[in-house]
Amino acid sequence: MAHDVTVVGSGPNGLVAAILLARSGRRVLLVEAAGTFGGGLRSAELTLPGVVHDVCATVVPMALASPAMRALRPDVEFAHPPVAAAHPLDDGPAVLLHRDLERTVAELGPDGRAWRATVGTSAHQDLIDTLLSPLGLPRAPLRAARFGLYGAPPATALARLFRTGRARAAFAGMAAHSMIDLRLPITAGYGLVLASLVHLAGWPVVRGGSGRLADALVAAFRELGGETVAGHRVRSLRELDSPTVVLDAEPVQFAADFPEPYGRRLRSFRHGPGVFKLDWALDGPVPWRDPEVARAGTVHLGGSLEEIVTSEAETFRGRHSPRPFVLLVQPYAADPTRGGHPLYAYCHVPNGSTRDMTAEIEAQIERFAPGFRDRILARHAMNTADLAAHNANYVGGDIGGGLATLGQFVKRPVWSLTPWRTPLPGVYLCSASTPPGGSVHGMGGWQAARLIAHDARRPARLRGQA
Ligand SMILES: Cc1cc2nc3c(=O)[nH]c(=O)nc-3n(C[C@H](O)[C@H](O)[C@H](O)COP(=O)(O)OP(=O)(O)OC[C@H]3O[C@@H](n4cnc5c(N)ncnc54)[C@H](O)[C@@H]3O)c2cc1C
Repeated sequence: MAHDVTVVGSGPNGLVAAILLARSGRRVLLVEAAGTFGGGLRSAELTLPGVVHDVCATVVPMALASPAMRALRPDVEFAHPPVAAAHPLDDGPAVLLHRDLERTVAELGPDGRAWRATVGTSAHQDLIDTLLSPLGLPRAPLRAARFGLYGAPPATALARLFRTGRARAAFAGMAAHSMIDLRLPITAGYGLVLASLVHLAGWPVVRGGSGRLADALVAAFRELGGETVAGHRVRSLRELDSPTVVLDAEPVQFAADFPEPYGRRLRSFRHGPGVFKLDWALDGPVPWRDPEVARAGTVHLGGSLEEIVTSEAETFRGRHSPRPFVLLVQPYAADPTRGGHPLYAYCHVPNGSTRDMTAEIEAQIERFAPGFRDRILARHAMNTADLAAHNANYVGGDIGGGLATLGQFVKRPVWSLTPWRTPLPGVYLCSASTPPGGSVHGMGGWQAARLIAHDARRPARLRGQA
């Protein structure tokens, strides 16, 4: 049967696009290179039989907060840990970030008011909706303007509003998810968005593993009559015969198929640092020096703001940090169904790096949890080449779909008010290389589906004009 639309790639963006297009009555085919669907949403027994690990995305606040996911209401359970995130320190107790804003304000003592004024005032659904649809009109213009004021500077500048090293370190941990030098513009904005999601939506995992979210979206798509093909990597747009194509695949793969200068612009899109990821099966929980950290889903290991800024700047400049900032997740704190104590962590490394960072990551954990190594039953490692082999979208191990600097926030992957539309009539982009970028929100897919519906109403002679 001929299809009206082919969606290439089954990450969250591709799945959202596929469902919305199938809902509109179109015959949709979803083609995936890997043997299973989900892209960044996959779970597997990476270490020992029965122990479920999230291969890529694991903490998914955006899946609760994004307009696309809220509208689709996937049939999964989100599991919230007792503490959303913890930031252990060498001297004194860890900083605990609670879903409840006022508890966090109390936790931060002298900096509680500054946290409420910056992070707390960003924790509003209309602001998150606006930020996830960055080229649309702001839903709450005043709030968006205030966010712009706080979020446009570097994270290091916003951190000066905090008086204590505790609050500064906690904020740096949030901003370091941007994977760029924290002295660059808009890194404060990344920190604010992620920290505000702690209070707005929580930082949950998916009960049973992130793969369950992909399974739920695939099931919803099939219920609408959608067809799926796994294990087929699309090499050229010429092999697809449907009139409309949506690429959740990283677009540079298809640069040769597009007319110039568009193809050249795709090739000039820059990728960011990569990650080195470790998963362990433990014989019990991590023995944190501060036992409160055991209650947190996410743990940021990097010490002070100054230390995190230094390690992220080194990675950004193409070097391996000897004391990398480590993002660690203990899913068992929220979800007892994972088969024991699977532990997840990664650090940032230069794009394309194949260096084994096991020793550096484990040293950072030991620093705050002496005796951690004695708990390890089995370990699984992935360098940037392994990640790129797992998913062609992770070019050089870049998990965010492209460098997240200010320039590439607005030029993603090319400068356009509708970057999801390409100059080839009927061909659309939706991956994390389009706004609003990486993470499990599905908004690229949402935007592509919206444009396809819009273009279908346009006169034929105007279609494909970006
Ligand atoms: C280690 C790691 C940790 C992460 N942690 C988090 C986290 O905790 N929270 C969070 O929100 N996000 C996290 N992310 C990021 C998140 O997974 C991605 O931003 C998100 O999955 C991007 O969705 P997408 O739909 O754009 O593409 P992807 O999820 O990358 O999916 C793209 C799909 O397209 C397929 N594909 C590519 N090329 C082709 C082709 N030519 N033909 C056919 N199929 C193709 C791929 O196989 C893949 O299945 C993490 C990512 C990684 C790798």
